[in-house]
Amino acid sequence: MDKRTFLKISGIAGAGVLVAPWIGCGNGQSPEATPSVWGDAPFALPELGFALDALAPAIDAETMGLHHGKHHAGYVRKLNAALAGTAVVGDGSLEGLLRQVGPEEDAVRNNGGGHFNHSLYWEVLQPGGGNAPAARTQELIDRDFGSTEAMIQALSSAASKQFGSGWAWLSLTDEGSLVVSGTPNQDNPLMARCVEQTGTPILGIDVWEHAYYLNYQNRRGDYVQAFTTLINWDAVEARLLMAVKSMVARIKAGA
Ligand code: MN
Repeated sequence: MDKRTFLKISGIAGAGVLVAPWIGCGNGQSPEATPSVWGDAPFALPELGFALDALAPAIDAETMGLHHGKHHAGYVRKLNAALAGTAVVGDGSLEGLLRQVGPEEDAVRNNGGGHFNHSLYWEVLQPGGGNAPAARTQELIDRDFGSTEAMIQALSSAASKQFGSGWAWLSLTDEGSLVVSGTPNQDNPLMARCVEQTGTPILGIDVWEHAYYLNYQNRRGDYVQAFTTLINWDAVEARLLMAVKSMVARIKAGA
């Protein structure tokens, strides 16, 4: 175990208590539970947790319908087609797949990224949104950015500056810090072999034109501003805790 990393993560308020039980137990999945090759449809389109028009007027129903039912569904379909019959990587999870995907593996990189990124995006959106960050997220934001406003400013800036299609991210690094970064296309910070700033994403803004063009046309900044009023901070907190758990599992595995 990397002692310095463990100490940094244990220092996250409350996380020490959360991490401790994970140190001493397995991940609940025996190696035999993971098949050797991917089946025909290992991944599925997740349902939205709300109606297509629930985010309007910030994000309109037509955009949501196309984005979820066409764009995201397409990434899932093409990812499954690319994987079918090929060797399973790691623990068989999408996260594990993306952590090792190479820059030349276009089908998995683009469609696996597309599936992961959109699944996170729907999760961190909330009709009405705008509640404050939950306790542990708030503590890390204050430690690493000074305030929620400063973090939102950094995230919005990354979203606005991302050239062409891509995403802006808030991620937990393997050193235990929260960082903001931007990635092109469907890349994300899990893809250590493809991106400069690595980490486990806990919040992401899709800045592909398909995410906003029907409603905002060229006004990406207005869409980004609207997005920041819809953040489901409970979902971000859940992602943060999952990121810590993933980090501990990888430290234990020597990865
Ligand atoms: Mn999208």
